Amino acid sequence: MQSVPSPSSTLGERPRIAPLPAPERPDPVRDRWREPMRRAIDEAALATATGDVPVGAFVLGPDGSVLGRGHNVREAVGDPTGHAEVVAIRQAANAVGEWRLSGCTLVVTLEPCTMCAGAIVLSRLDRVVYGALDPKAGAAGSLFDVLRDNRLNHRPEVIPGVLADECTAQLRAFFDTHR
Ligand SMILES: [Zn+2]
Repeated sequence: MQSVPSPSSTLGERPRIAPLPAPERPDPVRDRWREPMRRAIDEAALATATGDVPVGAFVLGPDGSVLGRGHNVREAVGDPTGHAEVVAIRQAANAVGEWRLSGCTLVVTLEPCTMCAGAIVLSRLDRVVYGALDPKAGAAGSLFDVLRDNRLNHRPEVIPGVLADECTAQLRAFFDTHR
């Protein structure tokens, strides 16, 4: 368990990342996704080797099998769309042989941006589980809520804040050393 600063000491200092949430209480829905989120955190750590922001994502099939995984590769390959979610969704679509990912779950360490939320809707994922909130760019409840917009034809279940403290600490540690 990494030690993280208290919310009161960090509020307002890191505008790109949400303040640390209150300590997580037992929650059966969230608890179910803690282990996959731990794996996404490990995946996110791979991004820092190329100076990319540590965000990691997995696409899990209906039976929990890993269909796709990815971390941010924007710097690594010079691609503005190289977000962890897009990488994982592409890999999963290749694995199942079609664009529809119905029945699947995306697990990602940071709240998806508008681009990734769009990709999630287009791929018909059933569920999105995320860790840290992103008040500056999040499109899953923070800045926008693309995933639960009634005007769109697909609305996945959204489970926010799984291991949010660890996901936030990982991002903070990166920005502390790289910015
Ligand atoms: Zn994104």
